[in-house]
Amino acid sequence: QQQQPLAMNSNSEYTGGQSKDNIDGAPLSTEGQIIIEEKQSKPNGEVNIIQYIRGNFLGKGGFAKCYEFTRVKDKIIFAGKLIAKSTLTKTRARQKLLSEIKIHRSLVHRHIVGFEHFFEDCENVYILLELCKSQSMNELLRRRKRLHELEVQCYTVQMISALKYMHAHKVIHRDLKLGNLFLNDKMEVKIGDFGLATKLEFDGDRKRTICGTPNYIAPEILEGKTGHSYEVDIWSLGVIIYTLLIGKPPFETQDVKTTYTKIKKNQYSFPEQIKVSKQSKSLVASILQLDPAQRPSLDEILNHEFFRIGQSIPKHLPSSTLACPPSEN
Ligand code: ADP
Repeated sequence: QQQQPLAMNSNSEYTGGQSKDNIDGAPLSTEGQIIIEEKQSKPNGEVNIIQYIRGNFLGKGGFAKCYEFTRVKDKIIFAGKLIAKSTLTKTRARQKLLSEIKIHRSLVHRHIVGFEHFFEDCENVYILLELCKSQSMNELLRRRKRLHELEVQCYTVQMISALKYMHAHKVIHRDLKLGNLFLNDKMEVKIGDFGLATKLEFDGDRKRTICGTPNYIAPEILEGKTGHSYEVDIWSLGVIIYTLLIGKPPFETQDVKTTYTKIKKNQYSFPEQIKVSKQSKSLVASILQLDPAQRPSLDEILNHEFFRIGQSIPKHLPSSTLACPPSEN
């Protein structure tokens, strides 16, 4: 079946018809690796071919499969998100992907996954991103169970710096969760996956709809009465901080409906058996407020006493903390 081009401005020629680049019939390198070819048409009519080697599988999301993509000419390795065009037959799905690309490529920040490039062939859309070798905070927490306050301080400072940048550019992420917080080989946090993000048109603009089911959803989105804005990201940040300290999300239950009820009533508690400072509890409580207007701003969060517990906060943590807690001294 012939698939439509996603966009005319993807820098790649849409050739139509039979694909040479689908996985079954893909060209192979001499070592038997799968080669993906990007065809760029030049103004003089010539076609420039850029080759990538599709390497290790990195993970699977709702729509995308992610692999290491090595650009043959300079050996730079990216995270390549591969989205089958067969999943993009509905206009809405195409618009969502285009919006993700448009928003993500406009953001350049140390703590946001770098957007390198995107292109398409007949079968797939490919998004090349900065490779985050140390996976996401989901895997980190699975290995570590929960983190020390010093680590949570360190990661939160980095997340806030990205969020300040994003909000200054009128972008709301709307799906902040551990699985969308990536770590590179230097253990720097990188916010990724802009699939549910939105850009406000003007100051004071509010969004009413959201497609998809964010994990750490804010109560005002569930109520759906007043519209929502930047404060939904602040709420999710509170849920993330709690989850990193305690080891599981505050409103987690066996089924989504009960979780949503608990969110709408702001019903959560700190388990007694886990030692958490009063500063941490006070920070989480100040963020997880049903009324979005009562939640602190990003600068107010940074000024909270939570960030003054213990010694100075390191810029980043050693990679040994991927598996073991940091030493206490
Ligand atoms: P979807 O948009 O379909 O949900 P994701 O963006 O969540 O897809 O990506 C799917 C998986 O690919 C992730 O869970 C993660 O394991 C991996 N992945 C995504 N982006 C990167 C990246 N920049 N570096 C390394 N791995 C990544």
